[in-house]
Amino acid sequence: MTGTLTESFELGPIRPPSEAYSLLIRVTRNCPWNRCRFCPIYKGQKFQLRSVEEIKQDIRTARAIKDKISGLAWKSGYGGSLREAAAMVCNHPPNDAYRNVALWLYAGGENAFLQDANTLIMRTGELVEVIKYLKETFPGISRITSYARSKTAAKKSVDELVALREAGLSRLHIGLESGYDPVLQLMDKGVTAADHITGGRNVVASGISLSEYVILGMGGRKMWREHATETARVLNEINPDFIRVRTMTIRTGMPLYDDVINGNFTRSTDEEIVEEEKLLIENLECHSSFVSDHIINLLQEVEGKLPEDKEKMLAVISRFQALPPEERDNFKLGRRLGIYNRIDDMNDALRYDEVKRAIDRLGQDGGGVSDELIFSLMGRYI
Ligand code: SF4
Repeated sequence: MTGTLTESFELGPIRPPSEAYSLLIRVTRNCPWNRCRFCPIYKGQKFQLRSVEEIKQDIRTARAIKDKISGLAWKSGYGGSLREAAAMVCNHPPNDAYRNVALWLYAGGENAFLQDANTLIMRTGELVEVIKYLKETFPGISRITSYARSKTAAKKSVDELVALREAGLSRLHIGLESGYDPVLQLMDKGVTAADHITGGRNVVASGISLSEYVILGMGGRKMWREHATETARVLNEINPDFIRVRTMTIRTGMPLYDDVINGNFTRSTDEEIVEEEKLLIENLECHSSFVSDHIINLLQEVEGKLPEDKEKMLAVISRFQALPPEERDNFKLGRRLGIYNRIDDMNDALRYDEVKRAIDRLGQDGGGVSDELIFSLMGRYI
């Protein structure tokens, strides 16, 4: 079967977790900034714009792949079921492009994500042309999203962003990371809190849905308070549709790793980050959905719609903080080993005992669940 499935198109390295089932179309390559000290993704890779014609060719190839999979739905005895044919291709994809198209079709074929790190950097007219072509080629696509930098969104006029929305751009994902300028400087993020506010507000004013990503722990031990309160202030000014939290994770290969080694940056522990998250939520006064859609977050169940769910979210944090120390250790290790999803999972005796045995095994020197052990386990998820 795979002998005839040879078409391929270019894919970038990442997309947000919420776009796991989206058709991926690479409109630029890598990151035009590429200096953030906590980000290893595009290091060593040169930023490149792609021509509209090159991108259109990829879209045509994605269409050809879709048509081949549709053909298989009839030829392979699936009675025309596109979903079943897509599942078959997903199981044995001839290449990554087929895997992406098959996964997208399996999920309904409704969403597309434009890669890589800062799609807004394209000329607005060219990006409008690409989005329109994508919609013409795939009329079933109802949501098109992308990554953007605040700095670029701040430079676009609201009219330009409206033109993108009218062409079909539904949502932008922006890495806010922090709203505190000294933290942004330390991380070499290349934006200020004021840029974040201007860029975020431009997107909101255009009617494009906005996801802002925050990294818990980015202030380290020295600046955690200001990181929490200033990030809340900036988010309140922007009032994005979504606030998505991640937890600072540092490993070799990141420039920030050198700062940890030479003492310029001291990581916050899991429990300190929980306290920081509490301060952040307490200070949020926006009307946003607070989303914790990454396994790296300790308390992934801290989610809800602001402001109405604020107390419910803070109650989860209080519940964790009220646990006896050995129970908190059990939960932390269980999360980092992928055994627990939520605090209630500790009530499952089998899972609880599994974590207890892991603590006995890993903390043989009597040190229990050390912060270093947790840091090293977290590094496995990025
Ligand atoms: S702007 Fe985004 S992709 Fe580029 S280096 Fe910073 S975090 Fe990484």
